[in-house]
Amino acid sequence: HFGFEDGLSESEKTERVAGVFHSVAESYDRMNDLMSFGWHRVWKDHFVSSLNPGHSSSNPPAPQRILDVAGGTGDIAFRMLRHAHVLNRNPSVHVTISDINPSMLAVGKQRSASLPASQQASLSFLEADATSLPPGAIASNSLDLYTVAFGIRNFANIPAALAEARRVLKPGGVFACLEFSKVVAGAPLFDAIYKRWSFGAIPLIGQLVAGDRDSYQYLVESIERFPSQEEFRGLIEDAGFVVGGRGYENLTGGVAAIHKGMKP
Ligand code: SAM
Repeated sequence: HFGFEDGLSESEKTERVAGVFHSVAESYDRMNDLMSFGWHRVWKDHFVSSLNPGHSSSNPPAPQRILDVAGGTGDIAFRMLRHAHVLNRNPSVHVTISDINPSMLAVGKQRSASLPASQQASLSFLEADATSLPPGAIASNSLDLYTVAFGIRNFANIPAALAEARRVLKPGGVFACLEFSKVVAGAPLFDAIYKRWSFGAIPLIGQLVAGDRDSYQYLVESIERFPSQEEFRGLIEDAGFVVGGRGYENLTGGVAAIHKGMKP
């Protein structure tokens, strides 16, 4: 396998990650279901309902601008649009999907063609690196909500991405992240099964289904390297966000976690 991060510069890391997602783009959605037994859908649904996009107490409802960073093939953005437009009946919610990888965005664009026309009209795509968002496309203090799901662990410079999130959000705007995390202590059997599954089965499934063992090996290793719930909350606070309560919510025993912070 890659021995992925050892001694690589930031731009080399970024290039490697680009290679991984270029080669997994076509198989990505199918692989997600296989690797997580469909759990990623439950986590994503929960993430989006917890954010309640489009909710507004004024009439007509207040417009909202949302940026879904590392939005890939659109899973989070499509859910947010549906939640805002259909459940909250707020058609003035706009979502931008940004991703560094044109192959992932191309799959997202294809998939978006089956959304209702009004949702398609409220969606745009942006090829951009989360660690330096183009100020021309995403102005400072312009967003109500910044989401990133299963993306941030791939960024070559996480503090830089958090600083960008802070820059582009309005005061009072929310940063929300869904990411793989650390299985909670006290569940050794679950942890053991989870590790076996990740390190044993996922690369193998990657090889059999997607013909690409290395990319899936990388994905598993990047989960292992990502900071714990507490450490990541610390990074969010260091970036200048206000974190309420514990600052995160564990999903499925900590296999994934949701972190939120508010720009003061
Ligand atoms: N958010 C989607 C989801 O939940 O299904 C996609 C997640 S996918 C595992 C990770 C995405 O992060 C890929 O589409 C990849 O191209 C993107 N990515 C990796 N590094 C990035 C960076 N520096 N800036 C923006 N996107 C990046």
